[in-house]
Order: sequence, then structure tokens, then C-alpha cells
Amino acid sequence: METVKLAIMPKCCLCAQEAEYDSPIDGRSWGYLCPVCMTTHGSASAGTRLEQQPLQQPLQQPVYGIEATPIEKVVLEGSNRMIKCPVCSDQRHVEPDAGYDYLCVCGTRVQVPEPFC
Ligand SMILES: [Zn+2]
Ligand SMILES: [Zn+2]
Repeated sequence: METVKLAIMPKCCLCAQEAEYDSPIDGRSWGYLCPVCMTTHGSASAGTRLEQQPLQQPLQQPVYGIEATPIEKVVLEGSNRMIKCPVCSDQRHVEPDAGYDYLCVCGTRVQVPEPFC
């Protein structure tokens, strides 16, 4: 099922809950459906999933990433490090001496930890 990102989530056409799908209703005209009405009136094969677009937020406090590279590899071989996002576990290669933060795919600011402490 395709996903569409929307800034403002519409209401379900049938019960006024927050909608999560755009789908033919009972096989007829399209409308917005909440998860409950989707199971009874929607069409999973034709429908589209709606997702809230993340709002433009002020920069959050970065959270420390998880070091996923054995430290000897970094020290002895100067290998790039692998940092894991603590929120979504997405991994990213960074320079051995990286000391910055980056924006993870999940929207979390991940601080690359100091390599040698
Ligand atoms: Zn509904
Ligand atoms: Zn993440």
C-alpha cells in the first residue's frame, strides 16, 4: 500500500475519528477512513495510507548514538565507525574522529559520541 504524507490529518468520513487511509468506501467513491472503518468498509488493495508529515520543529536536543563498531577497529585501523540511532536503530557510517550530530531518518538528532572515552 502506498503512503502519502499530509501536514494535517483528515477525519474519517464515517465516524469522524482521525483518518489513516484514503480508500474506496464499500467499493464505491473514495474517502478518508480511520483504521477501524478501514477494516470494515475500506479496500486494502486499492487504498492509500496517510501519514502525518513531521512538523518543522525547532532543533531538539541531540541524543547520543550507540557505538556499533568495536573500538579497537577504530583505534588500530582507523575504520569508519558505525553509529546506531537509539530511537529507530538505523545505522550510519561516520568518520573515525567524527564529533558532530546528524539528523537520522526518523527525525532524531543523533550525537556521535566521542570515540576515545
Ligand atoms: Zn472511522
Ligand atoms: Zn533514528
